[in-house]
Amino acid sequence: QIFSSLPCLSSSSSTTSRAFSSSCTPIRATLFPGDGIGPEIAESVKQVFRDAEVPIEWEEHFVGDQIDPRTQSFLTWESLESVRQNRVGLKGPMATPIGKGHRSLNLTLRKELNLYANVRPCYSLPGYKTRYDDVNLITIRENTEGEYSGLEHQVVRGVVESLKIITRQASLRVAEYAFHYAKTHGRERVSAIHKANIMQKTDGLFLKCCREVAEKYPDIKYEEVVIDNCCMMLVKNPALFDVLVMPNLYGDIISDLCAGLVGGLGLTPSCNIGEGGIALAEAVHGSAPDIAGKNLANPTALLLSAVTMLRHLEFNDKAERIQNAILNTIAEGKYRTADLGGKSTTSDFTKAICDHL
Ligand code: NAD
Repeated sequence: QIFSSLPCLSSSSSTTSRAFSSSCTPIRATLFPGDGIGPEIAESVKQVFRDAEVPIEWEEHFVGDQIDPRTQSFLTWESLESVRQNRVGLKGPMATPIGKGHRSLNLTLRKELNLYANVRPCYSLPGYKTRYDDVNLITIRENTEGEYSGLEHQVVRGVVESLKIITRQASLRVAEYAFHYAKTHGRERVSAIHKANIMQKTDGLFLKCCREVAEKYPDIKYEEVVIDNCCMMLVKNPALFDVLVMPNLYGDIISDLCAGLVGGLGLTPSCNIGEGGIALAEAVHGSAPDIAGKNLANPTALLLSAVTMLRHLEFNDKAERIQNAILNTIAEGKYRTADLGGKSTTSDFTKAICDHL
């Protein structure tokens, strides 16, 4: 079975699987279809879950058309409450209008739900040829601060300032998550990615926290790699890396680079981990306005994200079945979307996955 070792994103190493029966009470999960291609690929997930008889009841929430004063964004308070209650959810991409002066939807979710770690697995897909066939790495991105703290202002006319915030608490928390993840998923090495030679205080503190945590995990190798060198090494030989942990902005950029190594943004999943065990899965990619509404989007990244959600819930049999159907469909090559060089529409590709279940 290809990819049976795709790691579960829950912090436990449990290999147990929940048993199902038709009388089993469905688990409620929040679903944000999102913007652009979001509704099309969310529909794919719903269809595949239906055909695989996954006992999930979706609670759908849409972005509001006016700012909710309680969230200071277009995200409604009720939608955040839904994630808080259900503790698990799937999120389509959300567009961020540039320079419109209101809080980004993604930032609001991460801040309000304290989604402190964004876990992004990146694998070479069997049967889909890229320059590399041995990519198998996990980027873990600090998700709540850094350059994405939302603290920007004009100092005087023609001069603006943006504050990069790094705290000991958030750095220790994400480093601890990365090492714990490595330990519980049979990973050997954690690389902390930084630019502490220039950002001495901020990235310096981030590294100090990573070193502190590394001491608690003597069995996991630890190294520090400067971000620019990391980009060069990733492009030259991605097999050099295992688990990478880094501040927010670097994680955003490096994970897109990693997606490029295995075939593009249509393929790479992620899961946001929050305090108290919240897991909100989402694709790495954005709303892809250039192909939205055209039935062209590749739903794989969101589907694999939904698989990580199932693994988090320990629905391992269902996760395995869906994951194999997706990967076998791609490997077979008859049905592929345009980003992978194929001619299939989103709906044809989705149907092919359902036929492989
Ligand atoms: P993008 O990821 O939406 O698109 C980049 C390129 O990848 C485009 O050519 C697009 O067509 C392609 N692509 C992305 N996903 C694809 C898929 N599933 N199938 C096939 N092709 C796919 O990045 P962008 O254009 O920079 O951003 C568009 C919007 O999305 C912006 O408003 C941005 O802020 C937002 N965004 C949101 C998230 C999120 O919700 N987590 C992440 C990134 C960007």
